[in-house]
Order: sequence, then C-alpha cells, then structure tokens
Amino acid sequence: MDAETDRQPGFSSQEDMSFWEENLLKPLVGTDLFLSACEVVKPGIMYYSDFSGYDAPRESLRVLCQYLQVHSDVLEQDVSVQCVRSCDCGRIQQDLLKQLSTLLDHGESCVFGNLDHRLPDWVAEWITTVAPTLNTEAAAAGKMNSDIHDFLLQHRGAVLDADSRSFCAVHKKACPVYPGCAFSRLDNTSSLASSEDAPTAWWEKPSRFQQKPLTVSAAGLCCTDYSKLGKQKREAGPSERWHHIWHIDRVRAAELHAEDFFFTECAHAYPADKQAAGLEDLYHVVHIKTSPHHLGFPVRRPRTFTAGISKESFVWIGPETDEELQEMWSNLFDRDCFLTGDVYFCASDEQVSAWVSERAAKRKKKLPMNWQRQTVEQLLPMVLPVGAVSRKRKYDDVFETGKALNGSFLCDLDHNPGYGPTAGPLFPPMDTHPSIYSYVHRRLALPLECFSAQGLDVFPALAGARGLTPLLPVLESLSDIDARFLAGGQSLANCQGE
Ligand SMILES: [Zn+2]
Repeated sequence: MDAETDRQPGFSSQEDMSFWEENLLKPLVGTDLFLSACEVVKPGIMYYSDFSGYDAPRESLRVLCQYLQVHSDVLEQDVSVQCVRSCDCGRIQQDLLKQLSTLLDHGESCVFGNLDHRLPDWVAEWITTVAPTLNTEAAAAGKMNSDIHDFLLQHRGAVLDADSRSFCAVHKKACPVYPGCAFSRLDNTSSLASSEDAPTAWWEKPSRFQQKPLTVSAAGLCCTDYSKLGKQKREAGPSERWHHIWHIDRVRAAELHAEDFFFTECAHAYPADKQAAGLEDLYHVVHIKTSPHHLGFPVRRPRTFTAGISKESFVWIGPETDEELQEMWSNLFDRDCFLTGDVYFCASDEQVSAWVSERAAKRKKKLPMNWQRQTVEQLLPMVLPVGAVSRKRKYDDVFETGKALNGSFLCDLDHNPGYGPTAGPLFPPMDTHPSIYSYVHRRLALPLECFSAQGLDVFPALAGARGLTPLLPVLESLSDIDARFLAGGQSLANCQGE
C-alpha cells in the first residue's frame, strides 16, 4: 500500500507472514552484528518487566532466541531464558501474569503490584501526599511531579538498594527487586516467613546459569498523559510519578551493577529522549520510532522504542546519533506493506459463533432463531451497544472513500469517524477496549485476532514454524471484555522482536 518503492518487499500472503522473522532478520545472518548478538546472549538471559500488561516482550524473546539458535554457529545449545518477574497493578493483568508464572515458570517467577510497593513505606506515603490530583492546576501539578523526581534522585540510595523487595502476589512475601543482585547472592532469605501454600521462588533455588546471565528489563510505560485520550497533560499528568519511579529504578539498577539492558515502548508522542535524560552517564540510550506497518505488518500503531545499554557492561559501537540509528534501522527493517488488516481474521466459523453467543448472552440479548445463518453485521445490535451500532452507520458513509482497492476497510466502532484510531485498510491501533470491524469479513475482530495483530502466534496459519505462543491457553481463558482490555494499550511482540 505504500507508494515508496525503495523499501524491500514485505509480506504478500498469510504464508509469508508465518515466517516474518526470516524476512526481517535473514539479511543480518552471518554479519558481525548477528555474531555479536549471539555472543551477548550465549550465557543466557535473566528477564523481568514492569508495566507488564500480558508481557509481550517475553514473546519477543521467545521468537528472537529461537531464531538465533537456528541460524547461529556460535550457540551450541538453546539460549537459556529465565523470566523472573513481571509487574502490573491492574487486577486483570495481575491475574493473567500469575497464571503465566504458574503455566510457564512452575510458579518460580514473581508478580509485583504497583511500582511504589518497592519503595520504603515512608517514601510511598510521602509521594501519595504530595502528588497532584486530577483537579490540580497544570503548572502546579507539573511542579509537584518534578519535586517527586528530584526527591527520589537525591535520596535514591536510601530509597532503593540491593536488598530492596516488593510484595509478590505469587510467593505471598517480599521478593527481590533487583534480580541481578539476587543472582550474586543466592543464599539470601526472605525478610518475611514463607507461606506454605505458595510455590518456591526462583531466587530461593540454585541458579540455572553456568555464567552470569545478561540481565534485561522491559517496560511498556503508561503513555496516557501523552495521548489525546489522556488530554495531553504530559508532565502534569497523574502517570508522571510512575515514570519517575521507573527512572530512578534504572539509575539504581546501573549503580548496583544489576542491569545490562533496559527496553521501553511508548506512544509516538511520548518524549522518550527527555524522559531518559539523566541516564546518559550510566547507559548508552538510543531511540527509534516505528510502526508495524513500516515493517510490512498491516497494523497501524506508531510507537517510540528506547533501549539503554549499560556502559559498565558494553561499549556502544553503533551509530552516534538517533538520526543515524533511525536510518540504519529503516534500511535494515522497513518493508513495503502489501497486505491489509483482514489478514488477521483467522478465526473459524465455530469460534465466531461461540463469540457471538457469548457476547449476546452477556448483553442479555436473545438471538433470533436462525442467527447462525446471519452475518455478524446483521447481528450487531445483539453484540454491541446502541452507540457503536450507530457509529457503524457513520462509517458506512465514509467506507467508499476510505477502502482499499480490494474493498478492505477496518474501523474501531468505539470511536466516531475522524476521531481516535485511524480507519482504513490497516488494522487500527488498539488503545482502548477495541471493537475492530472489518467490511470484508462483515464482522468484528475476535479478541484472539486482536492479539494476533499484536504479533502473538495464536493461529496456526500465521504462526508457521515458530509454533503457537505458550501464552495461548491463558489468552483463551480470558473473558471477552478482559481480553479486549488487555489488547488495548499493549506492547507489540513483533516490533520489540527486532
Ligand atoms: Zn516472588
């Protein structure tokens, strides 16, 4: 769909999409860059995340390590990846992350709550006292948030140290905040008594690594204050304090020699360079901007990705400026986008029928006798609120001018035409509970299809040799409303995978 022709060709079919990592990464195989990447991950990876959502970067690591293993002469065995912690304050996210700990990590990985739980009580209480409320005037709110940052920075040694712990919802006790510190002291013991009904934590067991592993953190920073939905409150917004805690946490992680890399993903408008200011002495910090459709995936979701590389652990020999790095990134990974968002509509008729039935029951709507012979379009009043049905009629008016040549047109029925996520042939960004409607398929995207559009391998037709994501059983167990909540505001597995 892109007019430019100097890009490398992207995917032209579902089958192409099923080995996207070959398309994107193959040009690197055999290069010095690829060999370096293999050497770096060889000792293994200790991974943890904050603002985790469903922990999409974990899926990126699965695909990336699988690819490196298959194509590397350096790696003699599988890259050992140990996921030791996730963190999210939302009930839905916490429930899902606890299930993932049980399912994928034998209950060894931790699940933390909010970021302030890792601070001493007096600091967390002070922040709550001085933080702006929703009603605080913008200039005053900005000053309050700035004061919180300055205080945390000034007193950081007392606020976070090698022994810092946070209450863990899996192990029902205080678990280590800095896995890199806990790794070097595996004889440490919890400050609270063990709970008999909780599984044993990773840090209470012998290390699985022969050498010191690479320690990597990821965070999908909350960008609401930098989006239209958050009214662009920016530095005066209520999420700013969490960014400051995350920032000081990175400073301390480096000072404690506990972290080799950090990664973040946030909204395009988020001032990532400004937020990373103050980390330059400890990390080499780089930013790139991209969207899945720049890489050939038919999804619009412009994002800024930041990486911090510990100066103590590594010497950066890449491009010196962000502009040069962005150009290098684009030359390597940008692809023409030939497909439309309809490629993700992979659910079977049975899955669609089951979803219609569940949605109608939830809405206490009685489906007509012959409903299985009707299209979802005809059944929209049974599965959607009145407002969304009327918005569908408004999209009907702009469909002809917005559709692709093959008739592809997708829109989010939670928003009016011209407001919120862009409608068109690409799968729209999923910033809130998405209600993505396809004019080709004449139905809404099922939650699993939304996850698929975020790069998760949930359908065999798109997963190919990578295999289905191990997250699938947990994703399938979610209710429709919880799944759509998680699909909104989530990192992208196939962008971070690069
Ligand atoms: Zn724990």
